[in-house]
Amino acid sequence: MTTAHDTAPPLLSVRELDVRYRRRGGTTLRAADHVSVEVRAGETVGVVGESGSGKSTVARAALGLAPIHGGSVHVAGRDVTHLGTRGRRDLSRVMQVVFQDPNASLNPYLTVGRSLAEPLEVQGVRAGPARERQVAEALERVGLSSEAAARYPAQFSGGQKQRIAIARALIVNPQLVICDEAVSALDLSVQAQILNLLVELQHERQLSYLFISHDIEVVRYVSGRLYVMYLGQVMETGPTPRVTADPAHPYTQELLDSAPVADPRVQRRRHVLDQERRAAQASTLPAVGGAGCPFAPRCPYATEVCRTTRPPLAPTPDGGLVACHHFPGWKASRDAAHALIAAP
Ligand code: SF4
Repeated sequence: MTTAHDTAPPLLSVRELDVRYRRRGGTTLRAADHVSVEVRAGETVGVVGESGSGKSTVARAALGLAPIHGGSVHVAGRDVTHLGTRGRRDLSRVMQVVFQDPNASLNPYLTVGRSLAEPLEVQGVRAGPARERQVAEALERVGLSSEAAARYPAQFSGGQKQRIAIARALIVNPQLVICDEAVSALDLSVQAQILNLLVELQHERQLSYLFISHDIEVVRYVSGRLYVMYLGQVMETGPTPRVTADPAHPYTQELLDSAPVADPRVQRRRHVLDQERRAAQASTLPAVGGAGCPFAPRCPYATEVCRTTRPPLAPTPDGGLVACHHFPGWKASRDAAHALIAAP
């Protein structure tokens, strides 16, 4: 079925993004290797992967903060790869960001009211009662009293500071918000409150989110579509319910399997089997420098072709994509392993 989301032009379009950093010693780190990501109006797209997967590089490229070697980044149809100061100011009307650490967007020496007024100032809104009212309303909408405007960031808890950072991001009514590990530093109960707030705000304002997290449970909760990244490459993408219920890529399966389970017996057995599989792989398959699947050194289903040939992103039956030579065949081995873990 075709939805409005499918036909609308993308709000964020990252195509074949290639980002490289020079490291000490003259080597190059490929932080994004032909990565394509799309966010359409009103949808939440998740990007998940562990540290070093390149997921935050996508955010930095969208914000014009990454050294783009190749590919393109468009926000609301506009090329943002080479923006000047004025272009950035215009872009901030359309796109805002919420970081993991709210202190990144809150100056400790400014009152909360001043910090919230800054983005309005950039957009040419003058000081006065109307601006103060906008600040008060933004604070109230994220569950804080308007009196918070007179206080300093240090007087708030981590969760409250993240609410203030969200209020600051939304005060200029952007269409797209990038949430880069936005709840990762918070306690679980506060995480849930902030996620629910973001979902409510989305429904109210028809916002789009690019939601970046290392935690697959978090992106499972908020996103409708999901990209799974590993070592700068997209391993899999598709509708979040399918990707998390029936992953097409072994790395996605590993992310799901590493989420804690309540039964310690299952957890222990899972760990032992995982160790055995990895040891077997390491002893039978030689490493070949960089040519094959980046996940091969960790993959329990790797064969010789995985070490020598990079798997292309190929369509899955639900319209997603997966980069795996052995999709869907690897799943039979996974099901056998899962049956062993669950056996009485
Ligand atoms: Fe594993 Fe091979 Fe698939 Fe890579 S291509 S995920 S190594 S089975």
